[in-house]
Amino acid sequence: MLNYTVDAEGIATVEFDYPEKSQNILNAKSMGAYADAMQKALADPAVKGIVVASAKKDFIAGGDLAELGAATDAAAFHASISAWHKLMRAIELGGKPVAAALNGTTLGGGMEVALGCHYRVAADNPKARFGFPEVTLGLLPGAGGTQRLPRLAGMMAAAPLLMEGKRIKAAEAQKIGMIHAVVTVGAERTAARQWVADTLAAGTKPLQPWDMKGAKIPGGGPNTPNGMQMLMAANAMLREKTCDNYPAPKHILSCVYEGLSTNIDTGLAIEARYFTNLVMSPVSKNMIRSLFFGMQEANKLASRPAGVPTQKYSKIGMLGAGMMGAGIAMSTATAGMAIVLLDTTQEAAEKGKDYARKQWSKQVAKGRMTADAMEALLARIHPTADYADLKSCELVIEAVFEKREIKADVTKKAEAVLLADPAPDAIFASNTSTLPITGLAEASARPANFIGLHFFSPAEKMPLVEIIVGKATSDATLARSMDYVRAIGKTPIVVNDSRGFYTSRVFGTYVSEGMALLEEGVPPALIDKAGLIAGMPVGPLALADEVSIELVHKIAQQTRADLGSAYVERAADRVAAKMVADLGRLGRKSGAGFYDYPADGPKHLWSGLAQHFPVRVGADGTAALTLEQIVERLILVQSVETVRCLEEKVLRAPIDADVGAILGWGYPPFRGGPIGWLHTLGSAKSVAALDRLAEQNGPRFTPPKLLRDMAARGENFYPA
Ligand code: NAD
Repeated sequence: MLNYTVDAEGIATVEFDYPEKSQNILNAKSMGAYADAMQKALADPAVKGIVVASAKKDFIAGGDLAELGAATDAAAFHASISAWHKLMRAIELGGKPVAAALNGTTLGGGMEVALGCHYRVAADNPKARFGFPEVTLGLLPGAGGTQRLPRLAGMMAAAPLLMEGKRIKAAEAQKIGMIHAVVTVGAERTAARQWVADTLAAGTKPLQPWDMKGAKIPGGGPNTPNGMQMLMAANAMLREKTCDNYPAPKHILSCVYEGLSTNIDTGLAIEARYFTNLVMSPVSKNMIRSLFFGMQEANKLASRPAGVPTQKYSKIGMLGAGMMGAGIAMSTATAGMAIVLLDTTQEAAEKGKDYARKQWSKQVAKGRMTADAMEALLARIHPTADYADLKSCELVIEAVFEKREIKADVTKKAEAVLLADPAPDAIFASNTSTLPITGLAEASARPANFIGLHFFSPAEKMPLVEIIVGKATSDATLARSMDYVRAIGKTPIVVNDSRGFYTSRVFGTYVSEGMALLEEGVPPALIDKAGLIAGMPVGPLALADEVSIELVHKIAQQTRADLGSAYVERAADRVAAKMVADLGRLGRKSGAGFYDYPADGPKHLWSGLAQHFPVRVGADGTAALTLEQIVERLILVQSVETVRCLEEKVLRAPIDADVGAILGWGYPPFRGGPIGWLHTLGSAKSVAALDRLAEQNGPRFTPPKLLRDMAARGENFYPA
């Protein structure tokens, strides 16, 4: 866990060396070992000074999230964190110089261990990052980070690190005063030791700046005019950005304001309370489960069928060089693969490549990519109209128009080339957003090698790929497709075939519910604001405009045609029909939807909505629905549809639902995901709320049997 040595001059080295892990992490075990080692060194008269170091390639990666996620005893947690603060203060006031040698990345609790030393020297390691990622998982740097960093760097410089989780390089960390020196790689331990020896030789008592007489906070404390101004602005900005849904950044601001208004010991006591509150909150539990463990499982391909050798890819075919095709080509080229970008004409294919050039040129202009690197990427994209160029592709993805006949035609043409290969095991994938994969696979000579790879727009940026398994898709095809998704650095979720698959189906309920609310007479401004307050990135009506109301209308017509008498008309279908067929307002692309898009100013709600969807108020003049009721509907309509997807086995596991929602359509992470939110409410409360909503609004809210049974058995979706 820790190596402890003392040299001839009485300088002890306390070296973190977490067993059987590539990284050092902080948990009860490693923190206990550190406490023992430091107390021993402080108590031993033969030890004059201490160097804290790491035996791994990085210093410390941060806190143990499994331990934090599982903590449920607030009093015990508060006691343990208070004991840690006491240890850190004993080190700071112990009279022996303590220096940290930061050989690599130092994050979270690791950075706090370092800040608790008198001196910090970092290796000039270009890969090393320094910072506090806690806020991104609903936590705060609770081992003194909110108190020590702003006292060293000032509140202004500390803000992006503490409140946004920004990670910085060694040189910048030195510039803001978070570390004292940067030395060449490998020299950091010697430099730390030298500082200890020099301090001993000078005979001065080592102290942290906040323990020195007349200590001042750089840039001014919270109660100076500067500090007040900064905190006021930060508060307002935070509220605007988060609608108060995320307690962590708010608590961080409180720690900084309250803690820096007093001395360090009281500040640490304040921090310990806010930290305990966050660790116990459902928000951090949700974020840790979905954003950390869920994502980690998905990226490790935990659900990949076993026994299929990992496939390496070198050449991919892309049919359709439109918006999606060009984006997928960019991601593929970035991952080092050659990509054949095929369209109906050479000119159309070149257009796709031009899109890539345009996007990458912006990176070059910003200094994020060299011109040579861009040319190397572009050289991997081969635009063509000739199917013969697909020869020896290991995978061909189609993103042509959303028409069954066209998709069938390109499938046949591509397979004619792929099957001529000596070992024809290439995969054919469709990026369709609505057409069932099993049906599309009918055009294929090898439906076992046919699969859905559903990317999101813009494909070069969006991190999720929804993999759709058709009836005939083989396990090997699924496993090898997952390898491709990981190879291009995206996160896969695996779903079974169904109308709208998982993501489009559930995301669609959010948009539809917004349109239903409009028909009921809820003011449109309130509907979209409620969406933001619910935590969604865009309001449902604005979103309908973005994806196009015409598309909503077309899907409704298609569903009606497919389902015949089983089709039940929804409020959203009527609203879409009115907007598109009667009023000719198709959405943003036509410059007119629920919003108007003037050329000379920002978009605004269309004034005609008032006439076509009159606002209804109760007899007493108040709104028909409260904000809370609207938020509840917009959120629970997604959850209930997701449970249906689980029940129908469209989804294979709850965590796929949560990861897919957060990455796919920006579902608010603080709720954990559509399933995470039901878990937060508890099954019994979820059923009660859905029964009430179904009674008021119809069967789209009726709790599925799966959920009712869980509630009856007292079960929840995830372990407590
Ligand atoms: P797009 O209209 O931008 O591009 C389609 C491209 O396919 C065009 O360049 C067209 O010339 C080409 N094409 C048409 N017929 C062809 C043929 N026979 N052979 C070769 N190329 C042909 O459309 P898009 O937005 O890129 O969507 C493409 C597919 O991806 C559709 O199936 C769509 O449902 C799906 N999709 C779209 C999004 C999105 O947000 N746009 C998201 C996920 C999936």
